[in-house]
Amino acid sequence: MLVYHLPGTLDTREADLDLLWEAGATGLEERAGVIRAYFDARSDLPVPISDGEWREEADQDWLAEFKRTLRPVRAGRVTIVPPWLREEVEAGQLPLVIEPGMAFGTGHHATTRLAVEALSGLNLVALGPDGRGARVLDVGTGSGVLAIAAALLGARFAYGVDIDPITIPIARENAGENGVPPGRVRFAEGTLGEEAATFPEEGVDAYDVVVANLYAELHDLLAGEYLAELVPGGPLVLTGILTVKLPLVRAALEREGFGDVRETLDGEWALVTARA
Ligand code: SAM
Repeated sequence: MLVYHLPGTLDTREADLDLLWEAGATGLEERAGVIRAYFDARSDLPVPISDGEWREEADQDWLAEFKRTLRPVRAGRVTIVPPWLREEVEAGQLPLVIEPGMAFGTGHHATTRLAVEALSGLNLVALGPDGRGARVLDVGTGSGVLAIAAALLGARFAYGVDIDPITIPIARENAGENGVPPGRVRFAEGTLGEEAATFPEEGVDAYDVVVANLYAELHDLLAGEYLAELVPGGPLVLTGILTVKLPLVRAALEREGFGDVRETLDGEWALVTARA
């Protein structure tokens, strides 16, 4: 990478910037009192901008740099990893592979970790009719991480919905990456209400667990819908809640008649569980 270092800032040398562009610069930035002008090839520079210095610099691969910073995230019995760290999952932990990308939910946010921990603490294998495994609804599925975690933890099936259509193929791909068969996890664009009220192939009219990593104001709006989707006594797992907004969520759950309300805090974030 060829960079021309010109002393000064984009402000102090404003009058010279056009000369850099005319000389063939492909980009300009300022760092620590030096203008860095990127070029594909050296060129003769006119006197006003000839007080700089040409330098060949190593290319920075920002994506590789970002990937190097990622570490496995342990959440209860599950360890969330990107595909290239799969081998680092400790024996006894369930690997949950998520390709970091456009959809929220790599496990590196406290709320995702809290929600996976909470799912891990439920006995998803034993819940559900005839003890055949829980039917789980994940509202705001993003990368699909919570629905996939539920399936890996023994849910009979998990249904992930999201209002953002770009998340759906990403979530499906992540489910495939984890070897979860399509019958065990399904994703659809949508939100609570009519679209999420049935699980097409199973004819489900209620879920054994509802999990939602959204935000406090939305939990307040959806609290009645959560109740309508859950079997009596079914666990509700809510996160995405800033601790300062906890009173709003507590009030909404009380209003709808949820019981056994418990809170887990992680820095400024909270997770709330309750029973329908
Ligand atoms: N479930 C993932 C996790 O725990 O990491 C992603 C959570 S991310 C914070 C919230 C997701 O909810 C986003 O993908 C967003 O598009 C979706 N969302 C926002 N409002 C929604 C709504 N009203 N109904 C369904 N999904 C919604």
